[in-house]
Amino acid sequence: MTTPNEPLLSVQDLQKHFPVTKGLLKRQVGAVKAVDGISFDVFKGETLGVVGESGCGKSTMGRLVTRLLEPTGGKVVFEGQDITHMSQGRLRPLRRDMQMIFQDPFSSLNPRHTVGAIVGAPFRIQGIKTEHGTKKAVQDILELVGLNPEHYNRYPHEFSGGQRQRIGIARTLALKPKMIIADEPVSALDVSIQAQVVNLLEDLQNELDLTYVVIAHDLSVVRHISDRVAVMYLGKLVELADRKDLYESPMHPYTNALMSAVPIPDPARRNDRERIRLQGDVPSPLSPPPACRFHTRCWKAQAICKVEEPPLVELAPRHQVACHFPENVSKESTEAVSA
Ligand code: SF4
Repeated sequence: MTTPNEPLLSVQDLQKHFPVTKGLLKRQVGAVKAVDGISFDVFKGETLGVVGESGCGKSTMGRLVTRLLEPTGGKVVFEGQDITHMSQGRLRPLRRDMQMIFQDPFSSLNPRHTVGAIVGAPFRIQGIKTEHGTKKAVQDILELVGLNPEHYNRYPHEFSGGQRQRIGIARTLALKPKMIIADEPVSALDVSIQAQVVNLLEDLQNELDLTYVVIAHDLSVVRHISDRVAVMYLGKLVELADRKDLYESPMHPYTNALMSAVPIPDPARRNDRERIRLQGDVPSPLSPPPACRFHTRCWKAQAICKVEEPPLVELAPRHQVACHFPENVSKESTEAVSA
């Protein structure tokens, strides 16, 4: 159990290095550093958005936190318990509390199973008996996510993309989790359906007191749903702040470039903002640039950026950034970081 100020989830210096092997003997010749030492907390009832370009390690992070992948180093603490190396047997009851929603609602559902079997599977796997039977419990969940309970015996292909994602969400809710990690929950859906699913996630959060980590590359979706936002670049956390601060006053040049691409509905304000176009591709995580990993694409880079990694420090209340020359920062904070 957590006390009010204790995080529900605490990630400390988490790492995942995938070995790269060569030859018949599979000699290790390197490692892809997909996640390379990230730390953050998630508090009960909040939504943490995690953004970054494709390949930045955000999906790997989600799988590490839920122990679908084994970390190379660091620590994952859930409800005060260190689950980093917990055996699958001891992890099983905790799996009820931490569930994952996947990106592709079609491939994550078994096409040969009915909706009733898919949503009811967690009850069977965990050996849980419900008061009025599994069928009634599943039908209640289907109703909760906006699906017709009468469709219990239908198959996934009989549903639209948005309805299939609702089935995926229903499956995660079966065991009344405390936390849901949603990996690109709407990116495979039609734009017209995305808002409905985002609204459903918000309604469920209010109704069931859920805590979310939402991983997405769509900054408009993250802006809508998040309380705080973490920005990742090449396996590192470069900025973490309350949503409003991050979107209105980003401090890291990379975040600034990402935010400059977010559409502004107000035409007057739209003209005030200059679009920052990042040069070049994201470098390979197999051999990331030394020190600040963003220095090969950063227009503010100086000599120190190539030799000294900037630590993630708090430059304003609840606003952490990893940069030697942050933007939108008060004079006092700049003096504090250079001290
Ligand atoms: Fe740019 Fe240097 Fe800041 Fe890295 S540390 S983001 S290279 S200014």
